[in-house]
Amino acid sequence: MLIEVRDVSKSYKSRYGRTIRDVLKNTGLSVLSGEKIAIEGPSGSGKTTLLNLAGTLDSPDSGEIFFKGKPLSGMDASQLAAFRNKEIGFIFQFHHLLPQLTLWENILIPALPGNNGKEVYNRAEELLKETGLWEIRHQKPGEMSGGECQRAAVIRALINGPSLILADEPTGSLDSENAAMLTSLLIKLSEKENFSMVVVTHSDEIAGRMDKTYHLKDGKLELSQ
Ligand code: ADP
Ligand code: MG
Repeated sequence: MLIEVRDVSKSYKSRYGRTIRDVLKNTGLSVLSGEKIAIEGPSGSGKTTLLNLAGTLDSPDSGEIFFKGKPLSGMDASQLAAFRNKEIGFIFQFHHLLPQLTLWENILIPALPGNNGKEVYNRAEELLKETGLWEIRHQKPGEMSGGECQRAAVIRALINGPSLILADEPTGSLDSENAAMLTSLLIKLSEKENFSMVVVTHSDEIAGRMDKTYHLKDGKLELSQ
């Protein structure tokens, strides 16, 4: 088991401590090493909330999240930051590349804390070639297409060799052709590097290419295939 979300609840509170909304209610999710999971659900159902918890960007009100069998609640903020940078890669609907930096510079940012020189450059080169972006590595995001920027975001997420990719509507801003290409790329890389993947998507087509699909409904995940 790579990650297990066990009996987790999360609500958001107003500034005065009053609960506004119970988003997740005693829900659970297990992801095996190398497994690819899709999460579908209506807007506002708590998909992003769930990814934030799995990615240690936020913590649950109750329940526990285990990563390789260890509870995340046992880590302090700096341990969590180091853990997150090494083990988890995030991909969002919008690429969030820094406009003033080149593609090459953008993808090396997450490697900065523990940068070990040649090794990370070799990995960047390998991923750029694998995603078809090597030739344009000195261009800036403003000089790249939407599909190219999103592939660059995939490289940035993978540069440190994470064991888990969390992707929140990664194809949501792409046309169907680029969406299919990005999905194929993620699947190919996951199979090559054996990372696990949790992909939030509104597309049944993309969900159908994952190993399992869950629906988030009324604060709980239900397996749908
Ligand atoms: P989804 O990603 O499925 O659209 P979210 O996880 O973003 O859903 O949000 C779930 C619910 O929680 C929504 O009703 C949203 O308005 C609310 N919500 C999300 N983040 C916050 C926050 N930081 N404070 C208050 N309410 C929030
Ligand atoms: Mg969301």
